Amino acid sequence: MYPRFRKAGYQAIDRICDYHGSLRGRPVSSQVEPGYLRKALPSSAPTEGEDFQLIADDYQKHIIPGLTHWQHPSFFAYFPTSSTFEGILAELYASSTSNPGFNWSASPACTELEAVVMDWTAQILGLDKAFYNISEVGGGVIQTSASDSVLVATVAARSRYIREHPHVAMEDLVLYITTQTHSLGKKAALVLGLKVHTLQVTAQDDFALRGDTLKVALEEDVKAGFHPFILIGTVGTTSSGAVDRLDEIADVAKHYPFLWLHVDAAWAGVAFVCPEYREAYQLPAINNYVDSFCTNFHKWGLIHVDGSCLWVRHRRHLSDALDVTPEFLRSKHGDAATAIDYRNWHLGLGRRFRSLKFWFALRTRGVNGFQKYITDCIRLNARFAQCIYESDLFSVVTKPSLAMTVFRMAPKSLPHLGASELNALNRAFYARLAARSDIAITQTDLNGVFCVRMVIGAEQTVEGDIEQALVLMKEEAVVLVRNWEG
Ligand code: PLP
Repeated sequence: MYPRFRKAGYQAIDRICDYHGSLRGRPVSSQVEPGYLRKALPSSAPTEGEDFQLIADDYQKHIIPGLTHWQHPSFFAYFPTSSTFEGILAELYASSTSNPGFNWSASPACTELEAVVMDWTAQILGLDKAFYNISEVGGGVIQTSASDSVLVATVAARSRYIREHPHVAMEDLVLYITTQTHSLGKKAALVLGLKVHTLQVTAQDDFALRGDTLKVALEEDVKAGFHPFILIGTVGTTSSGAVDRLDEIADVAKHYPFLWLHVDAAWAGVAFVCPEYREAYQLPAINNYVDSFCTNFHKWGLIHVDGSCLWVRHRRHLSDALDVTPEFLRSKHGDAATAIDYRNWHLGLGRRFRSLKFWFALRTRGVNGFQKYITDCIRLNARFAQCIYESDLFSVVTKPSLAMTVFRMAPKSLPHLGASELNALNRAFYARLAARSDIAITQTDLNGVFCVRMVIGAEQTVEGDIEQALVLMKEEAVVLVRNWEG
């Protein structure tokens, strides 16, 4: 095995380096059609094992063409996801000692490293010490996704509420989200069979949830016999990077002592590594009031998918809700509570050794490296937004948020277009961009306004890529204006 592995391994590293080095010359989005791979591959697994070189070559031939290159310098779609050399190596080491690390004794280093890096991470973001593992009251855990983090928080919140109100029927519990909450809110309610109250937010409030809106909803629901038990607030919404007014929300929530406040900052939360964004993005309210907070380091935090960080103020709410311990899962340290049993902090039992990639990335980059990466992205976005503000063809729809600009066509030469015509024009604009292979960008709808989202996050993106994006956007917009006028 070993000589073959060494040879294949050296080649794999070479090819991975070549792949990253050649990204700029590749189309951003895959050009294949649905079903392409089934046509290219045999209809069953081979009876006899094959030579690995053949397999490695088939990866180049069949898989890479079917990939959208999220690390491409012209990838501006969704939110970014990272791939770093140190993360690749961490994944390699982690897989070389494959183990399900569900409790301390299953592999002590897995639990201990996770507890340490979650504290390091909490520290670089400026989270309150109450959330540190070392507090032995609160703590942090790596989840697969922000959706899992919300699910775990909701299960914990429900369990806490029912413990305090044992006669309340599950169907009377209400989970609160806004029209801008990511689909994870509705999905958690769907999975758990819970009632959802979706609160309206407005363009005038920059799509942020305000305290007054929540106050009215809570009062009406309680009067109607319902039991508010969790609110999912967002810092950095998917559609526009909006930031719910957690300070106002906390002021209302203090009258509902068992209303759990969870903050989903899947994308924007990593920006707390830069102290200058903490105040505006509500870190003080997070530190002072919320029960749980999540940010995905696998989005904007130089960590490979998956690495969603969830911190809770009281770890016992997680284990009260999720601890199921048959005899075969008992352990000396679990019984004595002398070590964290992470199996009681998430939905599954076994878990990947994800803390290794955090450790590698935090050490190779240092706080300064993380800060530089985030501020570079924000600086490039400011440059992009400035050009949109100055343009005769486009306008900014919401205030740019960190490394995200939401904009649309609003040509000065077509001043009389109505709302539906403008939406049609922008749908056509987006369709033209989406059909191109040299840029990836995504769309959204903000209270009936169709718009385009530009998010900067690939490490290879430089100013020239932003200029190039603007050139091709203008190119497409000019064609549409001409057609419209003609
Ligand atoms: N929350 C926000 C604000 C998001 O933008 C996203 C994804 O883009 C998510 C949550 C979902 O994250 P995950 O895929 O980790 O569940």
